[in-house]
Amino acid sequence: MKYVWSAGTHVGRIREDNEDSVFPQSSGVSTGPVVLMVADGMGGAVAGEVASGIAVETASSQDASDPTTPEARVLAANTAVLEAIENDPSLAGMGTTLTLVRLNEDSSADLAHVGDSRAYLLRDDELRQLTIDHTLVNELIELGRIQPEEAERHPHKHLITRVLGLKSLIVDSASIRLQDGDRLLLCTDGLTTMVSDFGIQQILAAGEGVEPTVWALIEHANTAGGVDNTTVVVIDVAV
Ligand code: CA
Repeated sequence: MKYVWSAGTHVGRIREDNEDSVFPQSSGVSTGPVVLMVADGMGGAVAGEVASGIAVETASSQDASDPTTPEARVLAANTAVLEAIENDPSLAGMGTTLTLVRLNEDSSADLAHVGDSRAYLLRDDELRQLTIDHTLVNELIELGRIQPEEAERHPHKHLITRVLGLKSLIVDSASIRLQDGDRLLLCTDGLTTMVSDFGIQQILAAGEGVEPTVWALIEHANTAGGVDNTTVVVIDVAV
């Protein structure tokens, strides 16, 4: 397997700071194993940037071939965020999402995920979301308290229920088998609140290389309003 990726992040058109973090920050090629991730920080002053930065730094600190599971990487990142808060009380309340994928030599991919950033798979031009948003509206849907169509208008639709920075953290993990021609996307909600799944599918399926696709996604988020920071990683899978 050969993995070809590109990554990009943009502050957007409204905010002054970019609280997202991404790893790796540049384009690259690997036969695996390789670890890639996005994180979306939150908290007062600079705390959001600090949280996502610590998470990405910690989760990417070991070599990708280290047997540490993606889930363990996320848990280690959570410990690091909690330690930072303990050492500096002005950071109290900071948190971050973390969506991480490890692409292996045997064409399997292992995912670990917390929060409302997302991983998608484009296969045969069909887009599938690989992660579940840890949001209040999703939990209400699961409990049958609201219908999926009500989620869009829900006043608290952006409320996140699971982030790094919480003492007891449950990490979602999954493994998938990749195929030649698959395209993976990791992104923060700055993309998905501005661009519909249909719009994302159209851009991913347009047949451009990974780098122009990254910037087409970011440009669409900004053209649609750019109300949040947008971070994306696009990965092509080839035999
Ligand atoms: Ca965000």
